[in-house]
Amino acid sequence: MKLGQTLIDAATLDAGVARIAAEIDRDQAGRPALLVGILKGSIFFLCDLAKKLETTPVSLDFLQVSSYGSGTKSSGNVRLQRDLSTDVAGRDVIIVEDIVDTGRTLTKIIELLGTRHPKSVKICALLKKKIAGNEGIPVDYLGFTIDDHFVVGYGLDYAEMYRNLPFIGILEPEPEAGNEGREAANAKRETAESRR
Ligand code: 5GP
Repeated sequence: MKLGQTLIDAATLDAGVARIAAEIDRDQAGRPALLVGILKGSIFFLCDLAKKLETTPVSLDFLQVSSYGSGTKSSGNVRLQRDLSTDVAGRDVIIVEDIVDTGRTLTKIIELLGTRHPKSVKICALLKKKIAGNEGIPVDYLGFTIDDHFVVGYGLDYAEMYRNLPFIGILEPEPEAGNEGREAANAKRETAESRR
């Protein structure tokens, strides 16, 4: 696999994050919020977002989950790897996710947090893929809608690489690899247990 076209450059990402921060400030109207980052993909997004909030008193916590069964499509088999250290009861919680693909990860996380009696739960995602079946996933704050590419950068990885890119790029099969190479690359992705 190799890094292909840049899909969202750093300046565009920055403007998108600033827009979301302004929306959260407007909606919270000075009320505190707990930002819950979903590790590891949301870390750069969450840090930049938190720094851009001007009127919302903010606390941070993190959840880590793994999606098992496939490297390219979520299996829906979401396992909690790291729980929050904060009691969410009575709090305004904003879940901060890197990308919504099938939406299964978010559905599980909303289910989990819902049992803990938060005052409210909102979803903030940097990216959402335009794919059939995820239209109903409620995203309150969205950075960008993208076509169905496998993307990396700004926290998103491929086998733990590329997270530190300051932009979002498309990961593509090596052009010279031909069908055999492409199949090998796909097989490698399929065997990856976790994409986080
Ligand atoms: P979902 O449960 O919505 O199908 O998948 C969400 C998770 O799958 C994301 O949080 C992310 O970890 C991973 N994922 C989905 N699409 C991509 C992608 O294009 N690139 C990367 N690096 N991870 C992705």
